[in-house]
Amino acid sequence: SIPLGYFGGIGAASRKGILFKGSNYLDLITKVNTVIFDKTGTLTRGVFSVSKMEEMAGADKDWELLAASLEAKSNHPIARALLEYVEGEPYPVSDLKEYAGKGLLGLVQGKQVLVGNQPLMESHNIKGLSQVNGAEETLIFCAVNDVLCGYFVLADQVKEDAAAAFDALKKMGIHELIILSGDKREVVEAVGEALSARQAIGGLLPEDKLVILEKLKQEPGKLIAFVGDGINDAPALAAADLGIAMGGMGSDLAIETADVVIQTDQPSRVALAIRIGKTTRRIVW
Ligand code: ADP
Ligand code: MG
Repeated sequence: SIPLGYFGGIGAASRKGILFKGSNYLDLITKVNTVIFDKTGTLTRGVFSVSKMEEMAGADKDWELLAASLEAKSNHPIARALLEYVEGEPYPVSDLKEYAGKGLLGLVQGKQVLVGNQPLMESHNIKGLSQVNGAEETLIFCAVNDVLCGYFVLADQVKEDAAAAFDALKKMGIHELIILSGDKREVVEAVGEALSARQAIGGLLPEDKLVILEKLKQEPGKLIAFVGDGINDAPALAAADLGIAMGGMGSDLAIETADVVIQTDQPSRVALAIRIGKTTRRIVW
């Protein structure tokens, strides 16, 4: 039988938009000493906008719309930004291939179109990337028939609540605050610096995040919560000692996989969830 105090704790949490999927997690969360955050959509708003576009010499005249046509098939936040920026009705696409954490490849108007980040371009041997700068910004490139045509410069914003979350967790004595992301290394490091994270690692594929998490888990005494919102985050949510999904705009799979769901878009709810867990323990014991 479940002690009555847990019902109080679960109820108090749910009134703050924090859903515990079992009373055991209310207990487990009080022992968390390491919190790993996904960046995009979790610590940042996850709403990108295109601030600039650059075209290379000799680019296919239609490259922007070709790129947007592929993005029309994706539900990544970056895709939404490109579709908003590029004018015109997207073309039909065939032979679509989505590279998780990298971008897309497909046939559009009889042309082979590749759209995504630098590692994706490099893995397809696209030349001309060295002419490009913009270190701390997210860049999305487009190549048509293996020729680099141009790139979009995108920006996302760190949520104000992310700083509140990091401050509250540190005040509770939780200093192992880590950011893992598939976004560019420099972009992720800038967010880590802004929030004074213990570590901020970018350029990761979903499976890389899992490897880092598994390695951390092996350190004695570590109890790790992973906080994320995307489809890509589901493996890490499942592998962490405690998976916390940001459900505000999160994917169904992330919400399903998690042990705790935060229904607002506020990462500071993680600290509040721990506080509610601790208060409940005091009442129960
Ligand atoms: P995060 O780990 O921050 O949530 P993702 O793993 O979702 O990021 O994506 C990592 C990177 O992969 C993005 O920053 C972007 O460069 C690239 N990417 C992913 N999906 C797309 C897409 N649909 N179009 C273009 N680039 C993409
Ligand atoms: Mg994400």
